[in-house]
Amino acid sequence: MKKILEPSRELEVLASCDVLVVGGGPAGMAAALGAARDGANTIILERFGCLGGVLTTVGCEGYAWYRHEGTIEAGGIGRELEEKAIRGNAARAEPQSNSHAIDAEAFKYVADQLMEESGVRSIFHCWAVGVIKDSNRIKGVITESKSGRKVILANSVVDCSADGDIAYFSGCEMETRPKNEMLGLTVMLNCVGVDVAKFQEYIDEVKPTYGDWGTGFSDWSNKSGGIATSRKEDNMFSPYLEEPFKRAKEDGLIPQDAKVCGTYSTFSEHGEATQLNLVTIRGLDCTSVEDLTKGEVEGRKNCMHAITALRAYVPGFENAKLRNFGMTVGTRDSRKIIGVETIDGSYVTGEGRTENSVGIFPEFLDGYGLVVLPTTGRYFQIPYGILVPKDVDNLWVAGRAVAGDKAAHSSTRNMMCCAATGQAAGVAASIGSRLNVASNNVPINQLQEKLTEQGVRIN
Ligand SMILES: Cc1cc2nc3c(=O)[nH]c(=O)nc-3n(C[C@H](O)[C@H](O)[C@H](O)COP(=O)(O)OP(=O)(O)OC[C@H]3O[C@@H](n4cnc5c(N)ncnc54)[C@H](O)[C@@H]3O)c2cc1C
Repeated sequence: MKKILEPSRELEVLASCDVLVVGGGPAGMAAALGAARDGANTIILERFGCLGGVLTTVGCEGYAWYRHEGTIEAGGIGRELEEKAIRGNAARAEPQSNSHAIDAEAFKYVADQLMEESGVRSIFHCWAVGVIKDSNRIKGVITESKSGRKVILANSVVDCSADGDIAYFSGCEMETRPKNEMLGLTVMLNCVGVDVAKFQEYIDEVKPTYGDWGTGFSDWSNKSGGIATSRKEDNMFSPYLEEPFKRAKEDGLIPQDAKVCGTYSTFSEHGEATQLNLVTIRGLDCTSVEDLTKGEVEGRKNCMHAITALRAYVPGFENAKLRNFGMTVGTRDSRKIIGVETIDGSYVTGEGRTENSVGIFPEFLDGYGLVVLPTTGRYFQIPYGILVPKDVDNLWVAGRAVAGDKAAHSSTRNMMCCAATGQAAGVAASIGSRLNVASNNVPINQLQEKLTEQGVRIN
């Protein structure tokens, strides 16, 4: 690739803080609240104009769709975000579980209030684009915005950018899987004009299940054979649509290669159908700007095919029309850190236990061709070391970029688990700043004590 030298320049200091959290998704929100409630002067930096990450910017409402009777949860800020959404009139009953789908628009306001109440300073419309390091420590994070190129100085940095941007800029060793093994990109579709009662009658008749997540939904997986469950899921209800899109292809209404099938979520009394997760484009790397562009364009094209098929073959959708796409294409998979500890699929499905637990998460796997629902009360403990990159002393990574193998990531990438790793990283970063110790030397007992005080279940 052709290269050109950028002249060095002096940067204005935009802000200074104890803990800087980069990225305002479920992990970043929990990290910022956890750090601030532990007494740290905390900033949360976000490239878009709102918090929530995939939840609000993509329109992914299924925050805890895995929850069934018997599911054991971590508690803490993850649960609090859902409770606040319910109380803030920003949630509706979710169709397949004992949880609530979170309203992607209304939650933006709920999230702002939460940060204000806890004394977190939000900085929006501002990208983290680099770091200034002093040997093994990050001195500051370089930002770009309409205000120009600046720097935020911080004692501790928590990378919740989902793609491990700060770890990557800091030169940490990262793992990236080949494009054809990465989870796909999705443009989320929201419609209006749906006759909800008529659609419900249709679903009552069809009774889709997880067992139906066949070849058509194989975009989730690496293989063409669909998904692997633990078999107990196969006859459970799932809000899944595939047949109408097959028919539309057979009848020549949409192209044979249209990438359409997937799940629906909730409906409003105004005839809105939100989080229609029907289009997944694979073989793209969301850290490539060219691939992101393809994801947006291909995603929208396929959403239009989805609407054509829904209107023709799904009772209740005859008069449906596009309300909006998600604010941005949704991305699921990219760089992961090499942590001081790691976990694999057998740890997640084998009720993994560790002395370094900083939270728990139910045995819930979704992605890379796996779906296992936590109906049994089984859970694993989250080891602190999966948040700690090897190479930088004052950096923590939370959310979907934590260390682990593919099957482990099918669990840790879920929003509630991202909130659990986020809270742990935020509190650890606060302790690290206060005691002036490296991430790897944060006293685990103190961290566990603080997390327990904040309502996190460790054991
Ligand atoms: C279409 C889709 C459907 C999904 N469905 C579900 C579901 O039903 N249930 C579930 O639990 N999970 C679901 N997931 C997965 C889940 O949403 C993500 O894995 C999760 O949101 C990751 O949380 P996070 O906090 O790590 O990152 P994100 O939610 O991606 O948040 C990262 C934030 O960092 C910001 N950011 C990134 N880089 C920078 C930077 N350099 N500077 C400043 N800000 C930056 C981003 O704008 C974003 O707000 C879905 C994902 C997608 C894409």
